[in-house]
Amino acid sequence: MTATALPDGLKKQHVIDPEICIRCNTCEATCPVGAVTHNDANYVVDPEKCNYCMDCISPCPTGSIDNWRIVRAETAYSLGEQMEWTELPSQEDLGDVALAASLADASEAEIAALIEAAHGGAGGKAVPPASASKPAINLFTRAKPAIATIQGNFRITDPDTESDVRHIVLSFGETQFPVLEGQSIGIVPPVTNADGKELPIRLYSVASARDGEKRNANNVSLTVKRVAGGLVSEWLCNRKVGEKVFVTGPFGATFLMPNDANANLLMICTGTGSAPFRAFTERRRRAMEGAPGRAILFFGARTPGELPYFGPLQKVRDEVLAKHLVFSRVKGAPKEYVQDRMRAEAGALGPLIGAPSTHIFICGLKGMEAGVDEALAEIASAHGLDWASLKPAMRGEGRYHVETY
Ligand code: NAP
Repeated sequence: MTATALPDGLKKQHVIDPEICIRCNTCEATCPVGAVTHNDANYVVDPEKCNYCMDCISPCPTGSIDNWRIVRAETAYSLGEQMEWTELPSQEDLGDVALAASLADASEAEIAALIEAAHGGAGGKAVPPASASKPAINLFTRAKPAIATIQGNFRITDPDTESDVRHIVLSFGETQFPVLEGQSIGIVPPVTNADGKELPIRLYSVASARDGEKRNANNVSLTVKRVAGGLVSEWLCNRKVGEKVFVTGPFGATFLMPNDANANLLMICTGTGSAPFRAFTERRRRAMEGAPGRAILFFGARTPGELPYFGPLQKVRDEVLAKHLVFSRVKGAPKEYVQDRMRAEAGALGPLIGAPSTHIFICGLKGMEAGVDEALAEIASAHGLDWASLKPAMRGEGRYHVETY
């Protein structure tokens, strides 16, 4: 994609939606020309450096990166302006339709079509479920973080396994830190890298319901995996009850739970990607007891001992959550991935995928995305559905969500 299709004097500017961005740093780490940068508040794209290579688009877990505006070349939004945004200015705010017409002798319809094409981006815009509650975003920043106290830190994988995954509960005390299920929060690393530079904020999905671990507890829980040699995960996993951590966010405005008891939730995850689905399940259990909509979980881990929350999950009734726990490295058993089990369950999943009240959520390893997509395409096809058109339609209706790293 290039900017050459635009009339002289205009350019397409690559921008990031600050309401949807979860500040995971993926775009900055991916950009081959160093065009993406950030301050305490926002991740932004330098219009002088961005060459529209699109390398950052598909790794972005939220689609917030896939936004474009047509601007006058000399008045592109500066980095400073973008860093202050709390929401994206609309194309109409720019008043460039008329300008474009006068500059290039193009009709307004032609320019409007260009803008439309630019708006579409590469992957289409991520949209929240229509019924989702309105999230609060970016209330606390690196410069002004919330201070949370560690209230609990429990291992939720078998101590005999190498995988140390922890359920960490953060209390916000008197500070209001509103979150919705599906949102993420940032943990400010207390250490710098070897060159003395600040490390990017580490992002974790909220694993508790909006009203806390226990009702109205004003706390938030996280699912954190200790990564060998990982500076921040190691530090966080070692925190003891009573210690303080600096927190930013909340982030994310599209990977949200439908506030609709009739909605079917098809949740697919690996490892710690289960965090938001624990939150969804808790919310369903507390606020939508007996919901007619179904909740189905496909959850992959190496072994039962390495599957986060294995014990507590067994206690969740099937009416609340239908569970498919699959394992890739159990001695003597064939390797099974979530997409394999989905294929095995095609008979039940086909009608579900086609139902207008179904929402699909995928969270976890980046690598599983393609396999899950292929499985969904096969299942859809076997039930007379065209996944190639159904997926973007679901995405446009806020019914298809991916958060993979
Ligand atoms: P993991 O333990 O490394 O993997 C879980 C399972 O996924 C294993 O059984 C693994 O099988 C399997 N797997 C590997 N490749 C796969 C593929 N292509 N398709 C399907 N399954 C595959 O998982 P993890 O270390 O917990 O990682 C979870 C991911 O979730 C991380 O990338 C993390 O960043 C992300 N995430 C975390 C949070 C959070 O709040 N903590 C939130 C959102 C996302 P084998 O190893 O046997 O191949």
